[in-house]
Amino acid sequence: MINVLFAARSERWDTYEAPLRAAFAKAGLDVDLRTEFAPEEVDYIVYAPNSEVQDFTPYTRCKAVLNLWAGVEAITGNKTLTQPLARMVDPGLTNGMVEWVTGHTLRHHLGMDRHITGQTGEWVVTTPPLARERRVTILGIGALGASCAHALTGLGFPVTGWSRSPKDVDGITCLHGDDGLKQALETADILILLLPDTPATQNVINAEALSRMPKGAFIINPGRGPLIDDEALIAALDSGQIAHATLDVFRVEPLPADHPFWAHPKVTVTPHIAAETRPETASEVIAENIQRGEAGQPFLNLVDRARGY
Ligand code: NAP
Repeated sequence: MINVLFAARSERWDTYEAPLRAAFAKAGLDVDLRTEFAPEEVDYIVYAPNSEVQDFTPYTRCKAVLNLWAGVEAITGNKTLTQPLARMVDPGLTNGMVEWVTGHTLRHHLGMDRHITGQTGEWVVTTPPLARERRVTILGIGALGASCAHALTGLGFPVTGWSRSPKDVDGITCLHGDDGLKQALETADILILLLPDTPATQNVINAEALSRMPKGAFIINPGRGPLIDDEALIAALDSGQIAHATLDVFRVEPLPADHPFWAHPKVTVTPHIAAETRPETASEVIAENIQRGEAGQPFLNLVDRARGY
């Protein structure tokens, strides 16, 4: 019997219990899944960083902590966590992110707001460029960024991706390093942020970076709030350097009522809804990782805690 502790907010248990049990059964795993165990009896922890479990010291036989979230910045610094940590790479979450990013990219590309909200009674005809004439840059071409890149190249957008390590992704111009970032920003008519929040990525979009982008560019941030210097972004929106920013993530969430983003006419705020982990597909990923742990195979999607993602 494999003892699996579900450590997340209590309302999540209702959402995940049935899909997890189904996925374990499908994988042929003999699992005792519960929200409470004596810590020394736990083999795996299915985990959300906002759960009550913050001290991993007593989980002496735990083989892995399997995160339900793609972002791990809230747990990588936890010194009591010495067990392997896997982050969530969930096909359902990825689908959601591709749809959200594609939708918001098309909104800005087509200038949809002009026609939907500009109901002035005037028959104003504007012709948007074709996708092939609008350059998209994605910072972060990991699980989510690469999938979004493929969807956007499929629509005809020329896509440039930027990552920490050199990459070769079919159909995308791949750049890395400081010079690569400069080049990636210079061609970013639409900039999409899909980097993790780490010490190396914070404020990557600062005043200098914003000034490198083409005038009138758009920013879409479903990555993490600290990637952007908020004050520099507001200044760039006010000056017209940036035409609009669609932001799903913020330094403080929920976004405080008095934050200038709420009232800014060139900012769209969405409440961290770009992509949610989907219980059915995520449960299968968790079951696969437990299967691998039991078979002595390497875990999928392991976090490098020194790097922070
Ligand atoms: P991932 O697979 O780990 O990919 C991260 C990408 O960022 C990789 O390409 C990585 O480069 C690059 N990167 C990391 N540090 C960098 C640095 N210092 N300089 C340049 N590139 C760097 O992560 P993912 O699954 O795609 O998720 C990305 C982020 O999306 C998550 O961390 C989370 O913050 C966010 N997210 C948001 C939502 C939402 O609802 N808004 C939902 C899920 C996830 P390498 O390829 O070289 O490693």
